[in-house]
Amino acid sequence: MKTAFFDIDSQLDFLYPAGALYVPGAERIVPAVARLNRYAAEHGIPVISTADAHAEDDPEFRAWPPHCVAGATGQHKAEATLLERRVIIPNRECDPELGGAQQIIVEKQTVDVFAARNLGRLLERLEADRYVVYGVVTEICVQFAASGLLKTGKPVAVVTDAVKELSPEDSRRTLADLCARGAALATVSEVCAARQ
Ligand SMILES: [Zn+2]
Repeated sequence: MKTAFFDIDSQLDFLYPAGALYVPGAERIVPAVARLNRYAAEHGIPVISTADAHAEDDPEFRAWPPHCVAGATGQHKAEATLLERRVIIPNRECDPELGGAQQIIVEKQTVDVFAARNLGRLLERLEADRYVVYGVVTEICVQFAASGLLKTGKPVAVVTDAVKELSPEDSRRTLADLCARGAALATVSEVCAARQ
């Protein structure tokens, strides 16, 4: 079984109180995200790290306060979640060159990583049999990633102690909906104890 991990939007603007679009309490999942990413690197599992990379006047800023502007400090991923060998796949037409990277940072401009131009091609190249998803926020970007991955027909697990939500009620509804559509829930310890 070939697994791929999806680390969703673990960027400074979302994770820390000084961030432009802070998700309260999100800093508490950083060690869990870091542990999963390191575990993946040690076991040859590719980590797809999605990352908002907005223009300064991005249309999304009509709905949300400006955040994760490309190149700004807040757009960076949390240091602890970075792996040594990484590539950035920009959100424009290009041929994703993976070159043995442990971490593939997929830049996106909307809440749905499946709207990122190269994601389809990247998934084809990875040929994963199952997916493990975590990050922020549960009921928005994690939900879009998990939903899109479920549509590929492959098993998807959401790591419940490595996600953070804005609204507990929306998060509960989202997880119940994903499970009804075939997703599994797992903890970091379970993911790291399972044979990949
Ligand atoms: Zn955004």
